[in-house]
This record gives sequence, structure tokens and C-alpha cells, in this order.
Amino acid sequence: MQINPYHNALEQLEHVASLLRPLYTKREAAFEQALQRLRRPDHFYETTLEIAMDNGSIRRFTAYRVQHNNVRGPYKGGIRYHPGVTADEVRALATWMTWKCAVMDIPYGGGKGGVVVDPRTLSENELRRLSRAYGRFLADKIGPWVDVPAPDVNTNAQIMAWMMDAVQEEYDRTGRNVENPFALFTGKPVALGGSPGRDEATGLGGIDVLERWRKQFTNIERSGLPIAVQGFGNAGSWFARHAHQRGYKVVAVSDSQGGIYTPAGLDPFAVLDCKQQTGSVVNYQPGAVERISNEQLLELPVAIIAPAALENVITSSNAANIQARLILELANGPVTPKADMILFDRGITAIPDVLANAGGVTVSYFEWVQNIQAYRWTRKTVRKRLEALVNRAFDEMWHIHVDRSIHCRMAAYYSAVRRVIDAMLLRGGFED
Ligand code: GLU
Repeated sequence: MQINPYHNALEQLEHVASLLRPLYTKREAAFEQALQRLRRPDHFYETTLEIAMDNGSIRRFTAYRVQHNNVRGPYKGGIRYHPGVTADEVRALATWMTWKCAVMDIPYGGGKGGVVVDPRTLSENELRRLSRAYGRFLADKIGPWVDVPAPDVNTNAQIMAWMMDAVQEEYDRTGRNVENPFALFTGKPVALGGSPGRDEATGLGGIDVLERWRKQFTNIERSGLPIAVQGFGNAGSWFARHAHQRGYKVVAVSDSQGGIYTPAGLDPFAVLDCKQQTGSVVNYQPGAVERISNEQLLELPVAIIAPAALENVITSSNAANIQARLILELANGPVTPKADMILFDRGITAIPDVLANAGGVTVSYFEWVQNIQAYRWTRKTVRKRLEALVNRAFDEMWHIHVDRSIHCRMAAYYSAVRRVIDAMLLRGGFED
């Protein structure tokens, strides 16, 4: 049976609410009202995009934008292109963005967008038309102080550039003034206001988290520590390359077509070349590496697994088979709430998505700040500031995890959801 990610997001919210409730005994009614608002996104938009195909036919694509909460700042979150996108998936991803920005304490709320499409079936021109149509759909819903979209699964800097231009064109057509078109999207090409280091940010933030985790234990050397990475898109491939460069041993990687494994270790740079040339990591050095499935990859005898693809890959059906000591969630929502409990009982640490992959939105925040100030930072500055924010958020989460004996997701949510609720109560929209 298909697991609904939005049900997971709501279950997680109820769990953290039960931990936070005792802190709000003096403002019980206001707390419950704030919580009620968080159970539903502020806005849900759905449309059908009509696109002219290269052969002259018309195809229709369902598209969404969900704005979950903006009490701490503009809605923020990526746009996903995937055939499996659903309304509830986008709702869940938007909710998780609210927590992610609060975990990192960056001044944003949460949002997410998605288009039901397999972009591999489109030509470059069709992809551009679709992206520009989606940009026109967004035009009256976003703005630098309203909602700032970015890339997610199967979208990239080029797609952001097309969307930005389409929004600006729509503003010109309707006579609306746009003060700063560059601050409308993040994850743009560097030549169009993108930030140095945004491309690698999700993977690099994952490395910063991993290094911080390792420092909690004096006996874990990074050198040769085996890692399996599920998914070789932007997050997974940058993470694998940085891990390799730092001396970790990347022994398995995968993409939607399957995985490869060798205990001797892979060279992620060469694997990426292979993927770019042949379309998949599975074509890498046939014979020299073992072909495995995405499911098998998660159960390998490694120290660390980094799910970097889609939701719900570690569930109550396979949580008991995980051999890794650490799960680093580079994807959003890869571990279900039931699996969280099983892993916690087994002493396996799962560093949650809202921290492990927050490097992406954090450098998006840096990009937006640079766009607003019209001042470009260096890659070195971006990396240093990213590491500082990751370390702060990690230490906060780890402290709560140890202190209250709760799993890391709830520890991260504990301060994040509290920050959001406190912001709502300070605004004063609720009666006691
Ligand atoms: N899509 C990324 C995420 O899930 C980045 C979002 C952003 O940069 O706004 O965190």
C-alpha cells in the first residue's frame, strides 16, 4: 500500500505537539489554535498547464504550489518535476519546509511546488515551455517577500532562469511592478544572480552534518568509513563527491535504474561521468562492481546510508534490516514515523531531512540576501557561513536528543515547531 507522506507529516506534528504542550500550560487555548493552523497549509493552488509539444499536439500537466506557513518569513521551497507528484506529497513537502527553515533559524516559512511530469520524456524546448507556463501560474502568488521558489527533484538552475523570466514577462504584460526579479527565485544560474556554492549546497551541508555527528564520538575515524548513497541527483552526487574527497569510502550509489556496489570503494567523480554519458550509474564498470537494487542498497553492511532520492524508502517493512549505524536523510521524508521508532529502539541514529539536507535552503537564503543587497559573496564565504549555521542547528538538536532521550527528528522538531508557534503567539492572532 502507498504510504501518504502528508499523513506522516501530520503524525510527526501530533508527536511533537504532545512534547510541547506542557510548555504552554499558561496559553493552552492559543497553543491549540496555533497548532490547528499548522495542520493545514495556508494556501493550496492547483492548475492544469497546457503545453504545445514539438509534434504539434497539446499535452496537459497537473501542477501545484502549496504555501504552508509564513509567520517567520516568506514561504520558501522548491519545485519538483516527477510523475509521482501528488497534492498530498506537495502538502507534506511544504510542511517540512516550514520546520526546516525553523530548524536552521533562517527567516522563512514553508512552501513547495510540483508538476506531474517525467521530464525525461520531454525535449529541451518542451521542458522550457512547461517551465515558463509554470512560471506564469506562479506570477501572482510569489514575490521576494511573499514566496521564493527554488529547485527540487529534477529541476535546476536553468529551469529557475526560465521561470524567473516568465514571471517578469507576466508582470510586464499586466503592468505590475517588480522591484527585484532576481530575488523571486533561488537556485538560479550564477550568471543570473545565483549564489556561488548553491549547486553543491545540499550535499555539502550533509557533509557538515556528518562531520559534526562524528565529532560527538571520539572513536570514529572518517578514513575509510563506508557509505552507501541512494540517489545520484544533485544532493546525492555532490554529497558522494565531497565524502570521497574527505576520505570517506563511498561503496554504493544508485539512481532510478538501480545501484552499484563494491566494498573496495567507488570514485564518485568517475561514476558521475558515466551517468552523464550513459544516463545511469548502473553502466559503471560492468563486471568490476556488483549490480544491486535500490532496496538492497539500504540494507548493505555499511556504517552510513544516505537516502538522497524520494520519500518512504525506510518503512516498518525494512527498518529491522538496516545495518548502518547512521542514516543521513538527504532526501525529504525518506523514513516513516513507524520506522523512526524501530530505528530508535535499535540504537540507529537518523539525522532528519530538516537538518541533513538543509544546506540547500540555507544557501538559497544566502542567495536571496545577496540578491536583495546586490552584493556577491565568494564560494569560500558561502561554505564557511553554511558550516556555521549547520553546526549551530546540529548542536541544538543533539543537545535535546540526549537530554530528553528522543529521536533526532523529534529533537529537531522540538525547537523548530516551538519557534513557529512562539512566532504565531507573539503576533497575537489567537485568543486565550
Ligand atoms: N528543494 C530544496 C529543499 O527541499 C531546497 C529548497 C530551497 O532552496 O528553497 O530543501
